[in-house]
Amino acid sequence: MDDVSPAGRGRRTGALGGTALCAAAVTALTCAVTAGAGTAAAARRPPVWCKPGGALSARAMPQKVKMSDCDLRGRVVRGENGLAATVPSDGTSVTAHALRTDGASELRIRVDGHKGVVTVTTLGTRVPQGRPRQFRAPLDACKDGAYQQEPSRWPKGAAIEWHYYPGSAGLPMSGVSTGVSNMFGAATDCNSARKFTPPPDVSAKYAGQTTTAPNVTTEANCGDRDGTNVSGWEAMPAAEPEILAATCTWYQGSATIESDTALQEQGKKWWPGPQDGSPCPAGSYDAAAVTTHETGHMLGLGHVEGSQHSGLTMAPTVGACDDGPATLGKGDYDGLIALYGSRSSTA
Ligand SMILES: [Zn+2]
Repeated sequence: MDDVSPAGRGRRTGALGGTALCAAAVTALTCAVTAGAGTAAAARRPPVWCKPGGALSARAMPQKVKMSDCDLRGRVVRGENGLAATVPSDGTSVTAHALRTDGASELRIRVDGHKGVVTVTTLGTRVPQGRPRQFRAPLDACKDGAYQQEPSRWPKGAAIEWHYYPGSAGLPMSGVSTGVSNMFGAATDCNSARKFTPPPDVSAKYAGQTTTAPNVTTEANCGDRDGTNVSGWEAMPAAEPEILAATCTWYQGSATIESDTALQEQGKKWWPGPQDGSPCPAGSYDAAAVTTHETGHMLGLGHVEGSQHSGLTMAPTVGACDDGPATLGKGDYDGLIALYGSRSSTA
């Protein structure tokens, strides 16, 4: 292979010669072919979009990126609606979700270390501000079976340990804990039992408060994971003002290994939800509703796009004082069952 010179640009004379030839090559592709496999990665000129510093734009790069072209590991990649994530360097992949006052965004970064390929997909949803979801002719959430699955889930039957991070603004835990238990417990308004049965075969195990924040950055992006699942309030002063919450989920193959959720405690008015008995102050967001939605991401549910599905918890929108997402619709439940199966009634 060392003697191959397909472009007819002369024999390769070893690593040094290959590199010198490479530097003079007209294009990166010619360079790679001429230099051969040994020194190609080091000598290849990176694509124009692969800038050495700062965040890289998902829009500017191909969907599949060879690490030999641009090693994205450890780099910040920015997707739709400004949502970004650090590409994991530990072989894991990451999915980022942000819920905004004007819609939502998703960013998926799949790292395939064997093939040396990083695949980036991103989707942004924007809804006109101040337009309540009821006005968009949704289907009856109790009959709407739509759901989307993320690329990963926890093991069936798993008891997922999570910690609560209280943040620094003194906001109550009740909305967060209600949201977590509503999603895991398939809470619904669709029947008199107020929960779908049988429950999905996965459970939440509360492991106490932590002083370590979720691995969500002050810009509401996904940072580096630390092995602990954390949900709670976080000051994210550098986040876009529309951001309500973000969830980051790390996985290997199709197995989720960590998920963190941060609710923005700065610059947003929050309501713990109707379970506390207090009315919703105008312009506030229901912490239980937002957490229920984010916990759906933690468990492997994606957004259901389209205004007809806006009655579902996993619709990519939440209005002020909108407590609808705190309880699941048929599709939200069907999605959990598709992911985890149902827990036997004897359990
Ligand atoms: Zn979401």
